[in-house]
Amino acid sequence: MSHLLEVTDLRKEYLLQSGLLSAVMGSRRVVHAVNGVSFVLDEGGSLGLAGESGCGKTTTAKLILRLLHPTAGSIRFAGRDVAALDGSDLLSYRRQVQFIFQNPYEALNPRFTILRSLLEPLIIHEIGRSIAERVERVAGALDRVHLNPPETFFLKYPHQLSGGQLQRVVIARALLVDPVLLVADEPVSMLDVSIRAGVLNLMRELSRERKLTTIYISHDLALIRYMCSVTAVMYLGTICEIGPTEEVIEHPRHPYTQALVSAVPDPDPTRPRRPVEIADTVPTPFQLPAGCPFADRCPQVMEVCRHLRPLLLPVDAGVRVACHLYPDSTVRKRVTRLMSEGYFRIVGVASPFKVGMDVVAIIGLNVARQKMTQARAHLQRLESVRYIGITTGTFDYIIEVVLPSMQDLLHFLMSDLARIPGLSHTETSLILDIPKQSYDWLPSALAKPRVFRDAAQPSRRRGGR
Ligand code: SF4
Repeated sequence: MSHLLEVTDLRKEYLLQSGLLSAVMGSRRVVHAVNGVSFVLDEGGSLGLAGESGCGKTTTAKLILRLLHPTAGSIRFAGRDVAALDGSDLLSYRRQVQFIFQNPYEALNPRFTILRSLLEPLIIHEIGRSIAERVERVAGALDRVHLNPPETFFLKYPHQLSGGQLQRVVIARALLVDPVLLVADEPVSMLDVSIRAGVLNLMRELSRERKLTTIYISHDLALIRYMCSVTAVMYLGTICEIGPTEEVIEHPRHPYTQALVSAVPDPDPTRPRRPVEIADTVPTPFQLPAGCPFADRCPQVMEVCRHLRPLLLPVDAGVRVACHLYPDSTVRKRVTRLMSEGYFRIVGVASPFKVGMDVVAIIGLNVARQKMTQARAHLQRLESVRYIGITTGTFDYIIEVVLPSMQDLLHFLMSDLARIPGLSHTETSLILDIPKQSYDWLPSALAKPRVFRDAAQPSRRRGGR
């Protein structure tokens, strides 16, 4: 099934160049605002992006809205690559994806009347055949957000309305153009507590009525629980946990989610609570730790966490978690199953204390002769693959794939392996952490970014395996 929105390995980096010395020395610091975010959203679904300020949730929203260009990764909307849209396709995308700003006071031009602000999107998107029809649409939209009678708001300026009324105008403006996806960034955080529930109820009611797909961005887990069926918790530019909202909030798996949930006041005072305390040192987005981004604050940190970045992997109940407390067993189960099904055999195994520090994985893939070209092209497209060597086997080709880190290996095993065309399931072998000297070609191959040897080599495999 194709998804309405597919975000894949989305990244946004900013180059920082500050001070005379860094300018002279040419030293640059990179801010990783969004660092490999992936999720899908189906039509009619509602996703909450939760996390502290600066975790990358608003940048993710701006990338989806194409207000920013990603450094890497892709966003597909209704099957189309958003980065490739231009002209009328881009205009249509901008109509279908609407944004509700955090601050309604900044969302509207203070010099425009409410009527003019609401007519503008109709004119831009050529909705309505006459001015009378457009004014009628505006009146209908104001009525729908309970601003009655609508005509009394037409000639008012934003400063003449309360915060709640203004946010209703912003909602009306977003819905005027019949969007498919609505992205709301902290939609009630600037409003008085007394009117927040009214605005949220209105948004929920309108979303259901129009079968809108929604993304809510908030640091407030209670809001997300009320509004969203799926929740993604972000930390330092990455998603650390994602799954059905009730699962994520009732049974948080990731230590950071546990800390966030434990900080939310519980309306039931009789329920036992175990506060999770975390250190208040937040790493800066330009000094990302080599391993888990949460390692410096995590109460359950282990040695492996400091060296190996955890992948976002399925745990249970539809929840995926990026934490070494969980995926290890999943990976082990997956590897065991793949081995029992004959996908590969482990020829050598890394010593446990080295895992995550300096692991080099080499996988020998036996590929049917007629599929070799396809398989090679497929492997060359994979970011995790550093080196491909091709030799001829007795009945087929052997493609040796070098994966430079445990991270790449896990990704390869968990998702890439099953998609290689023409793979012979019985002969694939895996070597972990083999001594480099036994492969004299290896260091120079790894020193280069990506090396592909296209020509098939005669006879035996390299290294005398
Ligand atoms: S990977 Fe390690 S440091 Fe990161 S959240 Fe899990 S236990 Fe904590």
